[in-house]
Amino acid sequence: MVLKHLKNNLWTVTLLTLSAATYGQSEQLQSFPLTSVRLLEGPFQKAQQTDMKYILELDADRLLAPYLKEAGITPLKDNYGNWENTGLDGHIGGHYLSALSEMYAATGNQQIKERLDYVLDWLEKCQLKNGDGYIGGVPGSKAMWADIAKGKIDAGGFSLNGKWVPWYNVHKVYAGLVDAYALTGNEKAKKMLIQLSDWCLKLVANLSDDQIQLMLKSEHGGMNEVFADVAAITGDKKYLVLAEKFSHKTILNPLLKDEDKLNGIHANTQIPKVIGFMRVAEVGGNAKWADAANFFWKTVVENRTISIGGNSVREHFNPSNDFSSMLESREGPETCNSYNMLKLSKHLFLAHPESKYMDYYERTTYNHILSSQHPEGGFVYFTPIRPRHYRVYSESQESFWCCVGSGLENHGKYGEMIYAHDANNLYVNLFIPSTLEWKEKGLELTQNTRFPFEEQSAFTLDLKKAQKFAFKFRHPSWITNGEMKIKVNGKEVAIEKDANSYVTINRKWKSGDVISVVLPMHSTAEQLPDKSAWVSFVHGPIVLAAVTGDTDLVGLRADGSRMGHIASGPIYPIEEAPMLVSNSTDLAQSLKEIKNKPF
Ligand SMILES: [Zn+2]
Repeated sequence: MVLKHLKNNLWTVTLLTLSAATYGQSEQLQSFPLTSVRLLEGPFQKAQQTDMKYILELDADRLLAPYLKEAGITPLKDNYGNWENTGLDGHIGGHYLSALSEMYAATGNQQIKERLDYVLDWLEKCQLKNGDGYIGGVPGSKAMWADIAKGKIDAGGFSLNGKWVPWYNVHKVYAGLVDAYALTGNEKAKKMLIQLSDWCLKLVANLSDDQIQLMLKSEHGGMNEVFADVAAITGDKKYLVLAEKFSHKTILNPLLKDEDKLNGIHANTQIPKVIGFMRVAEVGGNAKWADAANFFWKTVVENRTISIGGNSVREHFNPSNDFSSMLESREGPETCNSYNMLKLSKHLFLAHPESKYMDYYERTTYNHILSSQHPEGGFVYFTPIRPRHYRVYSESQESFWCCVGSGLENHGKYGEMIYAHDANNLYVNLFIPSTLEWKEKGLELTQNTRFPFEEQSAFTLDLKKAQKFAFKFRHPSWITNGEMKIKVNGKEVAIEKDANSYVTINRKWKSGDVISVVLPMHSTAEQLPDKSAWVSFVHGPIVLAAVTGDTDLVGLRADGSRMGHIASGPIYPIEEAPMLVSNSTDLAQSLKEIKNKPF
């Protein structure tokens, strides 16, 4: 979406063309801006509204307090607690910018817009007061940055010069400003973003590449991604060079050789770096870096991901041939990891529109992301897969973990990949009730469906004038070959899925045309990647679950304690968990569907 604002920038267009020619097959393919897609009634729209309420419940003055303090401005209110006053002060404020931008773009809600403007106004005041372009809430950071600039670097995985992941923290501000500009067209955000980037350029100007690499041992979010974004926004190559400098070679180098060295390392530290490798490749045209990102995606999705789309145990990648630690732990897949894996999937799909990326996207969206928000509000950090264990939900005034930050964003942007397009093809990736406005074609499309509660979706076209273009419907991997049916105005059309597992219908469309797609679902039993004797039952793309009890859910609603995000109640013996016994090798055959109640 950043790219959408760049059409008139010759330098960027040249670069993008170059990169697409190098590794992309679909240089024109792009997602629609969130402003073009509106969700209709259904679980995703409900989740969006629940998230909006949570966003508005947050007190912007309290989220801004760390930034004001660092700039020497008396804060209007005090910081929130939890991770917001114990070292990671300000990280939620950065996510807040992104979440407000996404929610405003996706809904047009004016209260959200006002909140966004308010936060930007104050951050601008902080930037002006700081005087050097810096905006950040990291406590006592000015002295630390001064030391960094002089080459005094003491980096650990979660620390830098004694601070709690300052680059990770500041990355949220960068990303928030990128989103405020790219999603809502806010010029002030762009100006602030460039000044903040120039602050960093100056900060590291005298550091050697080795010193920067040493610094990158410390978790730093997607710093390389945002600088590649700034290069695309400004057309200035110096930011692309900075993005390359901020790319962590310890992680990149094995990926360039198609080597999975991920066992035991902190998962969500790495995924944003890989998004950055991909983004650098998109802007700079380095095909090898795009291949490295693709290899990472492939090995994580195929070898390290469970049925809901999540990965990792206690935040780290477990051995891909042994998931026993994940089965036993209270700390299963972390929501941030899936948030970032979806982002990576989006970039890879737009470079190569193969349905495998959207199969993963769909699986993770329905099963991990959608379920990570409580129906009445609150976000989940860990989703343990230990039988009979449970999850903890955040409280809006108490809990300020990373997964609250990414959680605020997750439910505002469900519209981002339902559709995509190039000059003459409209991709339908997901079966989520929504409307789409495709301005260039004068098309308003309405998708009506209760999927997955029904096995079909209907698309109604409203066109300013009749014209020829192609629909490309995703043929999901969970549909048996030959079972997907498509009717145009009630008449079945012959379909064939292509090598990317999409089905193309190319014809002259007119207003009032209706396309209906039949999506038959089946139940399957799916093993863990280590092929141990554990299965998930999956119906279509939906992972099935059953309630086994509701006692001892200690801390179901998190308090403000440092570890309040972990479900600390008693754990029940795994061997006493309900067990399925079957003499069929196809366990899913034993399942009986309750009529009219598939879930
Ligand atoms: Zn998290």
